Amino acid sequence: MTGTYITDIRHYLDDSCELADMPPEARSLASFLVLIVDNATESCSGVFRDTQIRCRSQGCHGTILAMLDFGTEEILWQCPLCGHHGLIRNWQKTKWDRTET
Ligand SMILES: [Zn+2]
Repeated sequence: MTGTYITDIRHYLDDSCELADMPPEARSLASFLVLIVDNATESCSGVFRDTQIRCRSQGCHGTILAMLDFGTEEILWQCPLCGHHGLIRNWQKTKWDRTET
């Protein structure tokens, strides 16, 4: 079991709040993370819900569960199959933040 994968989503954005230029592997990870932000903020759920987003772990066919922690305002995500999990910070006011639309 690996540790919690903590991400500050703004590290992946450029000055115009779009995904910054980055190597393909990093971009793939960034795209995965913003999909989670988009999904978790749209459902705005305090319990884990299935996002239908495929887990990134090699050979894993799980789909990611995500939720909003209303206390810390972090987005928590996890794969129920392989245990890959993490949290996302600083997603507020990014273009993938659906909480105010
Ligand atoms: Zn997995």
